Amino acid sequence: MCGIIGFTGLDDAKEALIDGLQSLEYRGYDSAGISFFEGSSDKIDTIKTVGKVSCLADKVEEEGNMETTCGIGHTRWATHGGVTEVNSHPHTAGRVTLIHNGIIENYGELAEELAKEGIKPVSQTDSEIAAMVINYYYDGNPVEAIKNATKRFEGAYGFCIMFKEYPGEIYAIRNGSPLVATHYDGGSVIASDVVALIKYSKDYFVLQEQQIARLTKTDITIQDMDGREIDPEYLHVSWDIAAARKGGYDYFMLKEIHEQPEALQKTIMPRIKDGMPYLLDDGIDDDVFKNCNRVVIAGCGTAMHAGLVGKNMMEKLTRIPVSVEIASEYRYADPIIDDKTLFMCISQSGETADTIAALRLAKEKGAKTISVVNVKGSSIARESDYVLYTHAGPEIAVASTKAYSVQLSCMYLLAFRMAAARKSLVDDEIKELVKLLKKTITDVTKLLKYDSQIENISTMLHKASNLFFIGRGLDYALSCEGSIKLKEISYIHSEAYAAGELKHGTISLITDNVPVIALATQDNVYGKMISNVQEVRSRGASVILITNAGVSVDPALCDHQIMLPKMDDRFAPFGAAIILQYIAYYTAVGRGLNVDQPRNLAKSVTVE
Ligand code: GLU
Repeated sequence: MCGIIGFTGLDDAKEALIDGLQSLEYRGYDSAGISFFEGSSDKIDTIKTVGKVSCLADKVEEEGNMETTCGIGHTRWATHGGVTEVNSHPHTAGRVTLIHNGIIENYGELAEELAKEGIKPVSQTDSEIAAMVINYYYDGNPVEAIKNATKRFEGAYGFCIMFKEYPGEIYAIRNGSPLVATHYDGGSVIASDVVALIKYSKDYFVLQEQQIARLTKTDITIQDMDGREIDPEYLHVSWDIAAARKGGYDYFMLKEIHEQPEALQKTIMPRIKDGMPYLLDDGIDDDVFKNCNRVVIAGCGTAMHAGLVGKNMMEKLTRIPVSVEIASEYRYADPIIDDKTLFMCISQSGETADTIAALRLAKEKGAKTISVVNVKGSSIARESDYVLYTHAGPEIAVASTKAYSVQLSCMYLLAFRMAAARKSLVDDEIKELVKLLKKTITDVTKLLKYDSQIENISTMLHKASNLFFIGRGLDYALSCEGSIKLKEISYIHSEAYAAGELKHGTISLITDNVPVIALATQDNVYGKMISNVQEVRSRGASVILITNAGVSVDPALCDHQIMLPKMDDRFAPFGAAIILQYIAYYTAVGRGLNVDQPRNLAKSVTVE
């Protein structure tokens, strides 16, 4: 959440900042702003506005004809204080101007202390209080001011700070919230996400927590809180700038749906050796699977839904008990964890605040930890004992699509390897499963061609105000994902229900023409599922039925049937996921909404 960029170099900083903010806009789009040193003077100008980065770009065009080569920019997802211009970042207090990603939890106390000294904020944000505290401690030495001020902060932060007496310099520090940086021959850049750096270099480093970076046009220096100089460890991104652009698609979401076969290929294929799942290159040996007696999978939103599918596979194949936990609940639930617990967590960004907290708790209690993460070097990846990277490339649309599919594939690979390690299946059985997992790549490619069929079917949802997704077993896990996807981007209220559970209350909401999206891909519960569809149909529901290939149903049962290509039912989630993504996408587009930037949401939830 919230996009941060700092640039100091040879070129025009305003352009670099606006361009960077454009690529970071998926992280927040309540308001945007920049501050920059005018020429080589110590005068700092600020331009900010409510609304999108494009509004800021227009304002900068009108107002900002001064030259600059050093500045900071922010795109906000408001946590404290309404969406107003005064609450927009950057914030200035005295000789300090900063941008902030995160929440300073004790800002109220700090504000009271400052008020006693007669220092009052103009905005309602926690971030302005942070600027005031840094300014309070600032006596001409930026590093000392940052050290003293951050000792007072509780909560999460990523800051980029400019001090009036230091034109051309940007200081940065973080706790929780992500910051990555690079120095290239034209200057130095720091941002919340590598997508804003890739234009300058494919090599970057992650600023570690509680390290202070100083960026100038000639270099970046880093020191820890004890003043020791740190050499950053540079990482390399394997994708290029085209991956972070829309590339001719109307929306990133549609582009990312189409990138799924490639993402699956890159995530699955290197982890197959001699027909068996192979995780040794990821540093995961079989002992970790042999030494556990239960598995806990934690995540938030879509990632947690990938965990639901993982549980189903792992329990079926290994007979180990698996529980799936909502990370924000788990961390406060005083959960039962010991050194026989294998804790897995799933996060696209690797920076999800609640998931980080759950991971830290599990580690503290002695569990071994494996994370499934898309972003290299992210906090979750670094802090877990083992990490299985998904290779989805950058995911920009707020609604996750390709990241979900590759998370599923990692869940399957982990389940297969665990079955091999614990010998709950013989190698031939596992090889058969691996073949089926590989086959999902071609099945998903076939499903991408369902776009116009689903676009047509989705018209029946454009005017809906409530709808249901129902399924059993794996189809229930997929229903949860289909429902969140649809509601987050189309703003239609929907609920996911285990189909057998409907008549324990919710069926009272089924009346004439209420749409029900029913998933019936699971062989062992197919008959029961069809009975559940009959039940809603008899009460007037409009039904979209998703089945496996070759299944013929009574035409009176549904308005539309969508058939997967022929898939083993254990792998149907990969196919159903595409159908549900398309349903959500075309419904939102049909309602005229901005699919990539749904209201109130932002990607990479770095606050709790
Ligand atoms: N807490 C700050 C605010 O509400 C920063 C939010 C963000 O991370 O965008 O302004």
